Amino acid sequence: MSRGVTRVRCPQCGVESEWNAANPFRPFCSERCKLIDLGAWASESYRVPVQETKDPLSAPPPDE
Ligand SMILES: [Zn+2]
Repeated sequence: MSRGVTRVRCPQCGVESEWNAANPFRPFCSERCKLIDLGAWASESYRVPVQETKDPLSAPPPDE
């Protein structure tokens, strides 16, 4: 089987790699790129609730 190889572009660094069971980090090219992406995701989800605390009613007044 030399044909039918699915190639995917790493969402993190853009390097093309083969999509197969030998690459447990697909669609990323490596564990490093996967961890970078997960890290970006984590910081995104941390940022969202912080930005949504715009409601003055739910925000306690600076009473100190
Ligand atoms: Zn990559």
